[in-house]
Amino acid sequence: MTPEGIEPRLLINGKLVEASDKKTFPLYNPTTREKIADVPEASEEDTNAAVAAAKAAFPSWSALSPIQRGQCFKKLADLIREAHDELAYLEAISMGQPVSRYHDSYWAAAEFDYYSEAWLRPQGTTSLHTPGFVNMTFRQPYGVVAAIIPWNFPLGFFAKKTAPALMAGNTVVLKSSEKAPLTLHDQSAKVATLVEKAGFPPGVLNIISGHGPLSGAILSSHMDVRVVTFTGSVRTGRQIQMAAAKSNLKNVLLELGGKTPAVIFEDADLKKASEETRFSIQYNSGQVCMANSRIYVQESIADRFISLFKEKFAAVRAGDPTNKDTNHGPLADEAQYTTVTNYIEEGKKTGTLLHGGNGGLQHLNGYFVEPTIFTNTPENARIVKEEIFGPVVVINTFKSEEEVIQKANDSEYGLYASVYTKNLDRAMRMAKAFEAGTVSINCASPSLAPDMPFGGYKASGIGREGWICGLDNYLETKTVLMKVDSASQ
Ligand code: ADP
Repeated sequence: MTPEGIEPRLLINGKLVEASDKKTFPLYNPTTREKIADVPEASEEDTNAAVAAAKAAFPSWSALSPIQRGQCFKKLADLIREAHDELAYLEAISMGQPVSRYHDSYWAAAEFDYYSEAWLRPQGTTSLHTPGFVNMTFRQPYGVVAAIIPWNFPLGFFAKKTAPALMAGNTVVLKSSEKAPLTLHDQSAKVATLVEKAGFPPGVLNIISGHGPLSGAILSSHMDVRVVTFTGSVRTGRQIQMAAAKSNLKNVLLELGGKTPAVIFEDADLKKASEETRFSIQYNSGQVCMANSRIYVQESIADRFISLFKEKFAAVRAGDPTNKDTNHGPLADEAQYTTVTNYIEEGKKTGTLLHGGNGGLQHLNGYFVEPTIFTNTPENARIVKEEIFGPVVVINTFKSEEEVIQKANDSEYGLYASVYTKNLDRAMRMAKAFEAGTVSINCASPSLAPDMPFGGYKASGIGREGWICGLDNYLETKTVLMKVDSASQ
């Protein structure tokens, strides 16, 4: 199982390099707990060098036409698609995502494909509303963008952030997560290598690995970084926003956690609702910010819904994620495993454990957590309020629409919410009432539409990402006033 020859590297100024002080951190396979790689820990010097390279590359990259920039995008998309199997394998051994579910490569390729041709918009505007003037706006790139990404879908987030930033004419330093660096940094399957092959000029896209409090914190407070775009936990998002405020007030784009409610009314298609909400919390072992970790079922159908839900949820095929039959992998690492199992222990004290939760997958040796269902849990319990990021769901009941809206919205999170009902009026009332950035009707997360804005209400984030609004996040707006003499000479 332990692969030979994995040698992760930093990509700085077009060169694949070790950390300047040669420091590395160990990466363990969460399925076997064996060490699989020594990953470079980007030092302060490396992080500053990456920003300096991006800053130096900015004038010539931003001066290119978008069509020229798009040529590298198309090549990178093709190279990523070709490397699908290798990338799926690296992700499986890095953070445990089953190869049977791996789609990050297609997601990433689609982002680069889309943005390669999406540059027609946004454009500036003109205005004749001020007599004696022809006024206009320019849309211009900021300069250096820092992207800090999580470990649950590394390649997808890599593309979602770098593609619009680069197409807008910015240059980028991306920091991967210390939990899942392989698809980006390994020299053999290696998106860092593919970036070079695709023809990006040196310094335009730099990719560093390392821990958040070191290289991540340096990027967030760097005076030459003009935008920081982040996906991850609320705790870290807060730190990044504070670092941005304390340094140069760089623009901040944050996509943070969630505690998605799925509301099932008695007229819903129960088979479909149970199957889709089950998949939502089981996919990637629940390590998805929009996973429906709270399900509210109308009292009259609760028993039937729960029995349908449990039947499928309990029947996962846990095991080696590199095996094509596996659909339930381990959690990403020991820290994540400890967090989730602590929540389960706490849940046992506050609610009713209906299924799982007792470490029944320990024989697999890795950081596996059983699909776990709690019922009858008080709304103020920590497992109802806090993001667990594991295959753990709380199913509570409700009587009326008013009651369930109050419960669903009683959360500091607001990333995603779902409702299942055949009553269209009710569906639209719920869609309007949910305090969430995305609402799905008769479907559940991870249902998304790439062209629609994605982001959070309340503590789930600041700003929106998505194909229509993506470029706007990475373009300044400049007003240009031009005085025009009225009399001809
Ligand atoms: P998790 O702990 O689940 O990995 P985080 O939100 O802490 O979630 O991590 C997401 C990303 O944020 C990772 O790339 C991580 O290295 C980075 N990160 C963590 N702490 C900081 C920080 N203080 N400043 C900047 N980035 C950070």
